[in-house]
Amino acid sequence: MNKIDLHLHTDQSDGRISPLELLTLCRDRGFKNISITDHDTLNGYLQAKKYAKDYGIELIPGVEISSFFLGKEVHILVYYFEENNQMLNQLLEMINSSRISRARKIINNLISAGIGLNFDKIYAKTGKSGIIGRVHLAREINALKPELTIKDIFNRYLNEKTSYFVPKKTCPLEKVLPIVKNSGGISVLAHPHRLKNKQMISDLLIAGIDGIEIYCPTSAEHTRNFLLRQAYKHGLLITGGSDFHCEPYEKPAFGSFSVPEICLTNLRNYKNHYLRNDSLKGVKIETKHRPYRY
Ligand code: AMP
Ligand code: MN
Ligand code: MN
Ligand code: MN
Repeated sequence: MNKIDLHLHTDQSDGRISPLELLTLCRDRGFKNISITDHDTLNGYLQAKKYAKDYGIELIPGVEISSFFLGKEVHILVYYFEENNQMLNQLLEMINSSRISRARKIINNLISAGIGLNFDKIYAKTGKSGIIGRVHLAREINALKPELTIKDIFNRYLNEKTSYFVPKKTCPLEKVLPIVKNSGGISVLAHPHRLKNKQMISDLLIAGIDGIEIYCPTSAEHTRNFLLRQAYKHGLLITGGSDFHCEPYEKPAFGSFSVPEICLTNLRNYKNHYLRNDSLKGVKIETKHRPYRY
């Protein structure tokens, strides 16, 4: 059976493996349609794009943009953008330009917690991507404190609620969505099951987003059902993906989860109409589907 995954990371952002290693893994685990959606960079997608065909894989253009809505960080997946779009590339550059100084600030803040991290050492491990995020810091803290899990480390030192946290420079959703439109891309709210505030989810869905990611291996069934009702109510696309970073603690094992094929069919249909500026009325968005292994 063919498998589909529309949310994957590589070492071009905070994943552990390179775009080519990810293609190999996807091929070996039976995936034929995937999207590499690295954080705030097209590099993972662009590198894999050259080789995907050789691996028998359709690579859907993808990126995961860091944004915020009502003061809270939200992630927007974007599919089928035009890769040379100036506004999109400028936005991604703007977000990433602050990552280095932000990482230095967090490292500095962590001194008061008795955590001594070396920026140069961590930065060297990001390779050529130059993208440095909290995951890179978490891995280094884990080396210093192996008794803590990565989750513990985020809770104690890195998440938004801690005093060491420094936000990234990003744009609010109201600014990101028109840029996505300008790039010809489709916007999808990433992992909404992690947003605890149901009112915020409802507000987000009427802010002009095209779709919502519902099929994630870690979401609870009642949350999925709530999100499905929201998606139907607002006529939104439904997508899914594992948010795989190739971390040893990620569960379930990569390859045991697949997104229903109809999600990809709908995404393609939406793109074809959207590109031609047709009205979406009459586009058949199938809703009866279940992902592999649920
Ligand atoms: P950044 O873009 O630098 O703010 O880092 C955000 C990334 O940290 C996310 O994309 C996840 O990969 C990771 N992350 C956030 N929270 C957690 C957590 N509680 N456990 C593990 N990884 C996390
Ligand atoms: Mn990540
Ligand atoms: Mn995310
Ligand atoms: Mn992600």
